[in-house]
Amino acid sequence: MGEKEKVMIMRCEEYSADRIRGIIREGMETLGPIPRGRVLFKPNVVLAHPELFPHAFTRAEFLDGAIAAAKDVAGEVEEFAVGERSGITIPTRYCFKNAEYLEVIKRHGAKAYFFDESRHVPFRLRRPGRLRDLIYVPKEIIEADFLVSLPKFKAHPWTRLTLSLKNYIGLQDDRHRLVDHNTYLEHKIVDLQEVIQPSFIAIDAIVAGQKMMLTPTPFNLGAIVMGTNPCAVDTVGCHMVHVDPKDLLHLQMASQRGYGPMDLGEIEVLGDFPLEEVRAKTKDFQFCLERIDSYFKESNLSCTVGSFPEAHSRDYCWGGCPGAAQEAMHILRDFYPDVDRTMKKVHYVVGRVDGPIELQDDEKVFFAGDCTSWQGMLKGRPVSIDPRYMKKEEVKTQKTKSNDLLLKTFQSLWECFTKRNMPYVRAKGCPVSVADHVNFLSALGGIKNPNFDPRLFLPVTLAYFKMRLMRVLNRFMG
Ligand code: SF4
Repeated sequence: MGEKEKVMIMRCEEYSADRIRGIIREGMETLGPIPRGRVLFKPNVVLAHPELFPHAFTRAEFLDGAIAAAKDVAGEVEEFAVGERSGITIPTRYCFKNAEYLEVIKRHGAKAYFFDESRHVPFRLRRPGRLRDLIYVPKEIIEADFLVSLPKFKAHPWTRLTLSLKNYIGLQDDRHRLVDHNTYLEHKIVDLQEVIQPSFIAIDAIVAGQKMMLTPTPFNLGAIVMGTNPCAVDTVGCHMVHVDPKDLLHLQMASQRGYGPMDLGEIEVLGDFPLEEVRAKTKDFQFCLERIDSYFKESNLSCTVGSFPEAHSRDYCWGGCPGAAQEAMHILRDFYPDVDRTMKKVHYVVGRVDGPIELQDDEKVFFAGDCTSWQGMLKGRPVSIDPRYMKKEEVKTQKTKSNDLLLKTFQSLWECFTKRNMPYVRAKGCPVSVADHVNFLSALGGIKNPNFDPRLFLPVTLAYFKMRLMRVLNRFMG
């Protein structure tokens, strides 16, 4: 039997960059990798705002400590850089600013790569079991010599947990990120692993996130988890919060595809925070892996969930529209705590639904997603929603939609406006993104759209136009 993969769990109760630096330096010295060449840090900054989304991202102090530690132990380095693509079509440069990354990056003389502005290049996949033959990633990822993955330790309503493997979803721009972000999400996560393996992983588990990924409830876990193998790190992460690694589907698939172990017996757990002590602390760690048809209670949003097109996941689409609806409602709740009661009644329908939909008089129907189909009478009118779902083989990664923030906002609001006297609207897409769900649900529910909140609207719009400009320039500059 070969040498066991090593994973370290270290105590760290506070966001002190100096303390984090010392811990990560010890991790790098113990686990062995020496940063050299083009060193790229990939944090999780899916969404960041100090008031609105304070716990969704890897904290700036953590990034600061990680860069400083890498400098302490580095060999010959050509470049230190930080790269990420934030979620829900919000420009990454806006999230970096809110996460207070820009000061850290400047202080360390590092570069910032906003992957929504980068040129994405095709990468040919070859491993048996892959979902696709071709996947697109930023060219800076292909060029990196030493990738330091800095995930945030969070529960995830679609995949149960987001740790090291799942951190790779933030590599792709919106054009490519939403491809296979449906019942194939777990497969997609594993495909991305073939592009590059992390040389070092340090998870920010100082304050972990429970339940949701964009609006998590904080949990003071007080830990930093480090390793060099993503499967080993994620396996230990699962045990830290009482999840059977077999239930983290992308971990199981990644392990089967040869990326590392998922059996604790094949991993040596080191550090000053014993796993059993962590587990005693996390007995009440909360998840939210719930279907939406049983999730919204005492809410003016009700849901009908049908069946789904792919044989491996007929009963639910964990990686697509239903979870996006759930995240969108949590965002709305963050802005308007009473939204479930104050919004107009909306009946959300997703998947293939046969038979009548039970509606109240004043309820409007929101048919979401390309796979959704239904036929029947709504308010005395015949309605036919035809499926427009394309099988995986029919979706070409070379020809993808832009999923542009402004365009999609305009399209969804226009759809709601033009159908304002109709008993229903239909949102197209596979998936319909979280951002689109926010637009549709706020328009149909008659509540203010958070995108127009003064704390977001102007800074996001400015960042958007800068992002567009830089994307064009990067294309010309190669
Ligand atoms: S349309 Fe939505 S619910 Fe249907 S398969 Fe695609 S992502 Fe899933």
